[in-house]
Amino acid sequence: MQAMVLNRPRTPLEWTDLPDRQPGQGQIRVKVVACGVCRTDLHVVDGELPDPRAPIIPGHEIVGRIDAIGADVEGLSMGERVGVPWLGHTCGVCPYCRMQRENLCDHPVFTGYTRDGGFATATIADARFAFPLGEVGSDVSLAPLLCAGLIGWRSLAIAGDGKNLGLYGFGAAAHIIAQVARWQGRSVFAFTRPGDAATQAFARTLGAAWAGDSDETPPEQLDAAIIFATVGELVPRALKAIRKGGRVVCAGIHMSDIPSFPYALLWEERQLVSVANLTRQDGIDFLRQAPKMGIITHTTTYPIRNANVALADLRAGRFDGAAVLVP
Ligand SMILES: [Zn+2]
Ligand SMILES: [Zn+2]
Repeated sequence: MQAMVLNRPRTPLEWTDLPDRQPGQGQIRVKVVACGVCRTDLHVVDGELPDPRAPIIPGHEIVGRIDAIGADVEGLSMGERVGVPWLGHTCGVCPYCRMQRENLCDHPVFTGYTRDGGFATATIADARFAFPLGEVGSDVSLAPLLCAGLIGWRSLAIAGDGKNLGLYGFGAAAHIIAQVARWQGRSVFAFTRPGDAATQAFARTLGAAWAGDSDETPPEQLDAAIIFATVGELVPRALKAIRKGGRVVCAGIHMSDIPSFPYALLWEERQLVSVANLTRQDGIDFLRQAPKMGIITHTTTYPIRNANVALADLRAGRFDGAAVLVP
């Protein structure tokens, strides 16, 4: 197999020949046919997450075909198309696993962060954490659903069912969740980097009722807001934009420091929460309903060995929607 390997944080990934790997007990080997590029991959490469592993193969929006099956795997077959998400394994016995909150597991394994991921021709996954994808939809169009879509879905659920939804940062996740929210009959208010008219226009094409700069006041009060951007300054701005009793959800794994703000922005039962990871149930719920929602993912593809270019383009905001690596 070949892979783009991060040998040390803050260095470019290197195209590397590796011995083929065999799936262990409860595992499958997946031939990668598409792997999305997520903002979290940038945090991994930049060494911004705690306890970084190196060498590591990033990538956790994997679409692939099963080409080897380990012992004691049930319900999956050779050649089947599966998705491998960020949540790679949980312990099953800690208090969080036992209270159906495995997204908060004390001993998790994360694909592309603490276990090798999908910027590769093949990957090993825990069979119980892979999602059968069926044959509807192209490999490339499905890849961004596996993190941008899934984390976005969880964030949307936690935002509550208010009608006016603000999305701060209109990248891969927001471009999917805007479509989900429209399908649910909500009004979407899209906030981008100030002056980013192109992304604002993109948001409108996806049905946003309004799109503007992140420092603007929207024309209507928001019931909830989801912050996908990694910018802490957005927290007080979003609190300012929501109504009494509204909720601001921070969806990212990493964010710059939140500046201090007057208590009045939180007063009147406004809530500020974060979303961490996903549960398998999130994946099952979202992937079962996604085909009905008519989601069109906007993707830019790169060969896997050009992953560094994809990461640089993501960092610079050079494409709308999501980047996807293909063999
Ligand atoms: Zn656990
Ligand atoms: Zn991700």
